[in-house]
Amino acid sequence: GILMWPRPHKEWKGEGTTAHFYEILLGRCYTYTQIVRPELGHKDCQKIGKAFTGAFLSKDPCSSTEQDYKPLMELTDQAVPCDKTLLWSKSSQLAHDYTRVRQAMFTLEDTLLGYMADGLRWCGDSGSSDMNYKSCPNWREDCSNNSFSVFWNTVSKRFAEDACGVVHVVLNGSISNTFDERSTFGRVEVFNLRPEKVHRLQAWVMHDIGSARSDSCSSSSINVLKRILKERSIAFSCENNYGPIRLLQCVKNPDHPSCRF
Ligand code: NAD
Repeated sequence: GILMWPRPHKEWKGEGTTAHFYEILLGRCYTYTQIVRPELGHKDCQKIGKAFTGAFLSKDPCSSTEQDYKPLMELTDQAVPCDKTLLWSKSSQLAHDYTRVRQAMFTLEDTLLGYMADGLRWCGDSGSSDMNYKSCPNWREDCSNNSFSVFWNTVSKRFAEDACGVVHVVLNGSISNTFDERSTFGRVEVFNLRPEKVHRLQAWVMHDIGSARSDSCSSSSINVLKRILKERSIAFSCENNYGPIRLLQCVKNPDHPSCRF
């Protein structure tokens, strides 16, 4: 008879699926729903895990759609209280250091689905029911509608749509594009805040300890953000080096002159 070898996966320019992806996903789901937020203990992690992999397995990883993730989104709805949403862009570490201490505030990664997926990579292949552990599409070099990018666009969109009251964002004042129109925050989140229920966007522009003092709130990139929000009828306010987050930076740099209070 003819010997059938498994068809090799296509080769992409990005890193492949994280080893033990499914086990990590399930473990994180149980950790979150049983330990971190036991009020979500009713969520069905087995079902959530299957809906997650069902969104991308046996499919072309370059033709992913929001629709693919719909069953997963429906199983993982979660209310974030008004005034407690924290967005971030180019400031992942700092934003998460902050919510770790201020547990009432939520980044996307402090909600179930963001918590499960943060830092992982995944993709499938139309010719196989397995994950591709060797390589996955790189969003710049291979395709933008890849299973990984579409997931983050979809969950970021929902996170912004669900936000209410005063929404906060931590931005990086130590780079030139403090507000980056091509980032998820600039492309997706800003445009999916609902003016009917979001009273204001409060930006905290943080400078790295030791970087030159500058007033980034009056920089041209922040002006672009200001203009977009004005057009969308959402009030905007901006603060350089917000005190409580500055204190966290200083915990890591206690001897720096700018940390002597
Ligand atoms: P950012 O530019 O700091 O990007 C955050 C991470 O997502 C980086 O690792 C970046 O390389 C990657 N990324 C961004 N857009 C991507 C895309 N289209 N395809 C693949 N990878 C992409 O900040 P950002 O883009 O403004 O995203 C942060 C905001 O969006 C947060 O408010 C968060 O809610 C959400 N988000 C989170 C993640 C995450 O990995 N946890 C990823 C994307 C978006």
